[in-house]
Formats: sequence, C-alpha cells, structure tokens
Amino acid sequence: AEARDVTDELARELDRAHVFHSWSAQAQTSSLVIASGRGCRVWDHAGVEYLDFSSQLVNVNIGHQHPAVVSAIREQAELLTTVAPATVNLARGEAAKRIVARAPEGFRRVFFTNGGADANENAIRLARLTTGRDKILSTYRSYHGNTGAAIVSTGDWRRVPNEFARGHVHFFGPYLYRSEFWARSAEEECERALQHLRRVIESEGPQTIAAVLLETVPGTAGVLVPPPGYLARVRELCDRHGILLILDEVMAGFGRTGRWFAFDGYEVRPDLITFAKGVNSGYVPAGGVIIDEPIAAGFDERVFPGGLTYSGHPLAMASIVATLDAMASEGVVEHARAIGETAIGPGLAELADRHELIGEVRGEGVFWAMELVADRETREPLPAAAMGELKAALLARGLLPFIQDNRIHVVPPCVVTADEVAEAMAIYDEVLSAVGGAS
Ligand code: PLP
Repeated sequence: AEARDVTDELARELDRAHVFHSWSAQAQTSSLVIASGRGCRVWDHAGVEYLDFSSQLVNVNIGHQHPAVVSAIREQAELLTTVAPATVNLARGEAAKRIVARAPEGFRRVFFTNGGADANENAIRLARLTTGRDKILSTYRSYHGNTGAAIVSTGDWRRVPNEFARGHVHFFGPYLYRSEFWARSAEEECERALQHLRRVIESEGPQTIAAVLLETVPGTAGVLVPPPGYLARVRELCDRHGILLILDEVMAGFGRTGRWFAFDGYEVRPDLITFAKGVNSGYVPAGGVIIDEPIAAGFDERVFPGGLTYSGHPLAMASIVATLDAMASEGVVEHARAIGETAIGPGLAELADRHELIGEVRGEGVFWAMELVADRETREPLPAAAMGELKAALLARGLLPFIQDNRIHVVPPCVVTADEVAEAMAIYDEVLSAVGGAS
C-alpha cells in the first residue's frame, strides 16, 4: 500500500527533483521511502513497516540502529569527527587490531578505504606493485565495485560500459546449476573449472599475472558457494606461478556466511583480503585491505603510492570497534550460522518442495539465494516481468526483498530471529503461490 503521508510525499518529490540514482534510468527509480529502522525492520514516515530481508545492500549484518554502535558514533563525534590520514589516531589502531584478530595468523596491517570498490582498487595496486606484473584475473560472475580497476574486474553487465582500465582478464568460476563445463556433479564442476583456469593462466602467460581476484562466495552473482577443494586448488595454481590471491570478502565477510570470514570454511589462505559492508554494517562508509605481512613489509622503505582523505575516518573507526565488539559479545556470527542451519535452510527447502518456480536454493548462514525458473527441466530463468510482479507482491505484504536477475536473495541481518524467518517464509510462500501457483 502506497503511503499518503505528507513527509513521504515530500521525500519522493525532493528525490525525483534533485537526486541522481545508482545503476538506474532516472525516470524509473524506486519510490520506496525508508525513514527509520530497528533490528530487522524499517519504516517509512507514515509508519508502514517492512521486514528487511535485504539488509539494504547486504550490509546491515548487525541489524538497524544497534544501540552500542550508535552510541559509539555519537561519542566519537563529540570527541573528534575527522582527522587527516597521516596522523595517529587511537580509534583507527583499535579498529585495525580487531580486524586483524579475525584474519589468519601473519596478517598484521590494514589499509582503510571508504568502501568496497576502493578496497579492491588498492588490493589490485598492492598486487601489481608487489609482483611487478600487470594482469588481474577475475570471474565473469562477480561484482567488485564501481571504480576504475574494480568495475573492470567485475564480470557482470556493469563492466561493459565502463571498460577503461587495462590488464583485466576474465574466466568462468564453478556454478553447477548453470555449468559452463557440462558437469553433472560438484566434483566434475570443480575439476573442469580448475582445468579451465589453468588453461587461461597458461594462455595469458603466468609471468604477466599479478593476482587472481575472487569473491570467496560470489554474492550478487547468485550466492555461488564454491565446491569443496576449488579455492584450495586455485591457491595451488597461484603458488605454482608466483601469482597473488586476493579474496574479496566485502559481501561474504563479517558474519554473512556464519563465519567471520567466508574463507574460514575452506582450506585457503589469501595474500590480500578486502572488506567493507559487514565490518561496521555500513553505519558509516568504510572498507579496507588486510595485507599479509610480507606484502606490507615490502612498503616499509618503499613509498605506497595510494591514499584517501578519509582513510581511517574516526566515525568509521569508532563504528567498526563497536560493531566488532558487539558481534563478539552477542555471538552474532554463531547466531547467523545457527539460524541458517535451523531455520532459513529448512524453510527454503520446504518452499522448493512446494513451488515449481524454484529451480534451486543454495547458501549458508544468512546468505541464500532462491533461483526461479520458468521450467524446471530447461532451467530457463523466470522472466523479468514475473520477477517485477514478485517484488511488488513481496513489498505489498511488508517484506523488503533483495532481487537480482531471476533470483530472490534471502539475506536478512545476522541477528534475524526464528520468528522473523517464519514470517518471511510465509510471505515468500504466499507470493510464490500467487505468481506461480503452488505445486
Ligand atoms: N565487492 C563485493 C563482493 C560487493 O558485493 C560489493 C558491493 O556490493 C563491492 C565489492 C563494492 O563495494 P562498495 O559498493 O562499498 O564500493
């Protein structure tokens, strides 16, 4: 139901008149107003409530308006709201210490950025400077951000109108449901995807490749949980040729998979880790690169040719400290794992049993996707018009969804309760019946 509240109307009017939106034709932007939030819920000015199963852009891991994080930002604002990056600041050191504490042994230093794109930008720069090589290999099914090298590393359609950076090569990662390799099992998919990557590396010239950049679990591309062994063997391929491995944990990191880092679930140690989103749930824009010590030490005497006015911004740093402390003391990551195993996973499996529209469900923690198909045999993706209908129907029933291509990504905050999951499953069920008919 469209709210008629005067403030909502004013917000829409100002937006239409003056705001230029991301990734949109400006005549077709959303009219959804979000004015406030708490935990897994948000409201417009009229008080119309939505259950947030998007975590906005899959970043509000700790839920909306966590009181400890809000207070920490307020306290830091009263002390010092901004500071030059070349100074020493206690909040920055405290944030870096907590971040490296979650990284594998040997990682000691963090370069802070404003978000995920510039985290990848700087990881790529570090890899190129360290190896003296140029090329960056990444997958077609990926999103790495919207700046120079990050958008050209990205595999999806957003790369194509933005291809102004050089030295980027793409390959196909594993995705059994829509296998590029005619595979019928996870083992086949894994073997063949590795063989494909091996051939791409050989064909590009291993000595020209600085790094392989991968989302540990490709997120926007469809929550593509890698098959067992894949990441460890990509690591082996990299080692054989002196290629660095950058794992992009911007979406998958800090609790989303039910682990602090998604790669904690695999036998793989990256050289560079990029993060943003969940590190402070986006309360203040922040991201960064966690740098393995040999790479960081390479810049002890050599100048690192990169920087940002807001690298280690105090409000962002204070919010990181408070977020990571609250996540640890409240067991938020353990909760995300448990709710995935006991509620979201079983709930989605039940929906898949009842609805022909669902071709596959996959995921873990609070990081899931339902892939919708017009035909289960051919796996033809559900067309955009039907996806649009589903989105409108979900919103009308008070669920804020994350919809990408032919998929509904089920990505609530890590703190989502079993009752909230049950509420969401009932709404998905109703809407899938209305659009597709129950089987
Ligand atoms: N990397 C991944 C895996 C992402 O999902 C995103 C954003 O969705 C980014 C990088 C870019 O982050 P930002 O939008 O903060 O620049």
